[in-house]
Amino acid sequence: MKLAILTSGGDSAGMNAVVRAVVKAGILKGCETWVVREGYEGLVRGNTEAAPKSEPSKTSQNLPANYRNTNINLIQNLRFGDGDLLKDGTGDFIGGRTIKGRYIVRVGFDDVRGWFAEGGTLIGTARSKTFRTREGRLAAAYNLVKEGIDALVVCGGDGSLTGADVFRAEWPELITALHAEGRISKEQAEAHSHLKIVGLVGSIDNDMSMTDLTIGAPTALHRICEAIDNINSTAASHSRAFVLEVMGRHCGWLALLAGVSGGADFIFIPERPPPHDTWEDEMCACIHRHREIGKRKTLVIIAEGAIDSNLNPIHADYVKDVLTDRLGLDTRVTTLGHTQRGGRPVAYDRVLPTLQGVEAVEALLESTPDTPSYMIGVQENKIIRVPLMEAVAMTRAVATAIEAKDFDKAMSLRDPEFKE
Ligand code: ADP
Repeated sequence: MKLAILTSGGDSAGMNAVVRAVVKAGILKGCETWVVREGYEGLVRGNTEAAPKSEPSKTSQNLPANYRNTNINLIQNLRFGDGDLLKDGTGDFIGGRTIKGRYIVRVGFDDVRGWFAEGGTLIGTARSKTFRTREGRLAAAYNLVKEGIDALVVCGGDGSLTGADVFRAEWPELITALHAEGRISKEQAEAHSHLKIVGLVGSIDNDMSMTDLTIGAPTALHRICEAIDNINSTAASHSRAFVLEVMGRHCGWLALLAGVSGGADFIFIPERPPPHDTWEDEMCACIHRHREIGKRKTLVIIAEGAIDSNLNPIHADYVKDVLTDRLGLDTRVTTLGHTQRGGRPVAYDRVLPTLQGVEAVEALLESTPDTPSYMIGVQENKIIRVPLMEAVAMTRAVATAIEAKDFDKAMSLRDPEFKE
């Protein structure tokens, strides 16, 4: 099996650990391993230049042939290179030089050494408009067939996994079209009649249904906790109130768990919107009570997608004004922004991607035209496979339920065991 991996959509800690695990597990199981740079965009652009010949790095010379760094030393160049790859997204690093026109790059064991500890995604991620079109996906299919790749691992959020499912469903038709246009031979069309594809969820928001935890969410939560610890000391010293806005898009997981682990007085999450006409009274009464029993600091956490029961957004600045005007508190707003995404992955964001990466390779090896595309998840601490499209559909249903103000349904879609 020739196997390629790409990271797509928003970056998250642990994506590099996924790439490392998939490459290493793939090689150990006899596959040839490739990375696609810049997400689906790299798949669409493909390789317009031949792979330059290069020597294996010194450290890999004693390894068996397919363990070796075959034509690049990606990590070293990304760490110490001149940065062209990241600047214009069109380069390809070979032995310290930038080679234009290569997005699908063969990698060996050596290339991904130590990647579990790196933040973000070293192979790059992007949002690709072209891949949303049939034309773009036709180019992507051609580029994979050209390199002989027959299996794809996609690590990204629900958008990226939707793209993966669309690609797989369309694959037979794309292959027929490429053959009819004379771009691929009959033998190539036969050998590539089926695309094996599997999804891994990389998202800091923990917003995917049918899995308990997404890759990157534990690190983001940890970053928020560190920020709360820092804020708490200054808040207590000055007896201040802080309104902290955290990421999460339409999901309140980060806000809720940060509130539990950081001792918040009040938390706003999209799945449980407070009554639009009484939330200010409720919040002020709660915080007043906490102050009455001697609390010197106040912490209110707002998920970025927080809304009231009429679906009006609740903004941090507005909450600050309420606390200042009604309770006379010296209140500050802190928006954590991108600091939540970055930095080294915490231990669990190395363990989870490693276990899931190995499972992804196994799922690909067992894949047949009759098996669905799987998403690798984790439920009750066990690594599991679930049909990718079911997980995506259930995730989308949460947003629909919120829009329809059916908040109980939204909660039960997030957590089937949810009870009021
Ligand atoms: P995330 O994966 O973090 O949710 P996006 O929603 O931006 O991020 O999706 C990432 C990429 O996945 C998009 O830029 C696009 O290339 C691809 N994609 C998303 N939805 C589709 C779709 N319905 N069909 C084809 N490609 C898609």
